Amino acid sequence: MGDRSYNIAVIPGDGIGPEVTEAAVAVLRATSLAFTLTHYDAGDDCLARTGVALPDVTLAGALRAQAVLFGAAGDSAADVILRLRSELGTYVNLRPTRAFEGAACLYPGTNITIVRENTEGLYCGIEDEITPDKVTATRVITRAASERIARFGFDYARANRLAKVTAVHKANVLRKTDGLFLDAVRRVAKEYPDIRYEEGLVDAVAMHLVMRPERFQVIVTTNLFGDILSDLAAGLIGGLGLCPSANLGDEHALFEPVHGTAPDIAGQGLANPTAAILCGVMLLRYLREPEAARRVEDALERTIAKGQTTPDLGGKLSTQQMAEAVITRM
Ligand code: ATP
Repeated sequence: MGDRSYNIAVIPGDGIGPEVTEAAVAVLRATSLAFTLTHYDAGDDCLARTGVALPDVTLAGALRAQAVLFGAAGDSAADVILRLRSELGTYVNLRPTRAFEGAACLYPGTNITIVRENTEGLYCGIEDEITPDKVTATRVITRAASERIARFGFDYARANRLAKVTAVHKANVLRKTDGLFLDAVRRVAKEYPDIRYEEGLVDAVAMHLVMRPERFQVIVTTNLFGDILSDLAAGLIGGLGLCPSANLGDEHALFEPVHGTAPDIAGQGLANPTAAILCGVMLLRYLREPEAARRVEDALERTIAKGQTTPDLGGKLSTQQMAEAVITRM
């Protein structure tokens, strides 16, 4: 056991959020590192009970913690996760997607990381009603945020020995907004001569991802495109149950599965805890505990390879049983 204790805020949220978060927490505890894990309320249930989706005490706890482990938020997501990302200043949404041996998928060997800008684009919430029959949404792109996300993408590629970064855009139609985004990424690309740089139109990239995903390593893109392409990438490797994400800023980090509340399977022990456990792995790396991260990842890989999984991957285990199988292998 190390001599440090990590202060983690846990926000399970709604739907399958509590089930998969509990599994991830059990795995974190099994690393034998010292954690102070404080649970906080947020989401639809919280809104129904208390009248607020994100209580002040939850926000304060998230701001105080060294890192946040988040489950899922339902209809109140905009008031919960978008607000948390904004208050924590997490401008990067990092979504690594890789295939696991033993998990049936379209493309074994897929390993794509989507670096999604997290603060602006079409998700900045500026919508207007011009008339009852005409509404608008404003797509905000700034040079500063575009350069910042590009720099993160290239640094990530370099740190993880990934040879190529692809900027994904629609600058032929969105000339001003994606024109600026591309210009910013191109400038940053020049600072990284060791990394190959390519560009792709979002519609064409969607097709290439389905036909030849090995063309991509790191994708840097704007908010909405990143959201959609990461679900597409999840589909390539066996589903949303396998994909974690990290929201990263200069001061804070929040880790959440790419999946949402999955109401169709909530409360039945059917949810695959892999995405949430991989959030724990990303959290451990963020805390500079690479050995513990590797130990969890190895145990998870071996568990999946042995077919000890939830039904979405063809196994017979419940969420909790799969987490226990991982812990046994650690
Ligand atoms: P939300 O509106 O909260 O995003 P949703 O059901 O529309 O919820 P997701 O939660 O992202 O969207 O999931 C889509 C579907 O993928 C689910 O209905 C479920 O069948 C499947 N799914 C998602 N997460 C998991 C998981 N961890 N394990 C197994 N299946 C999952």
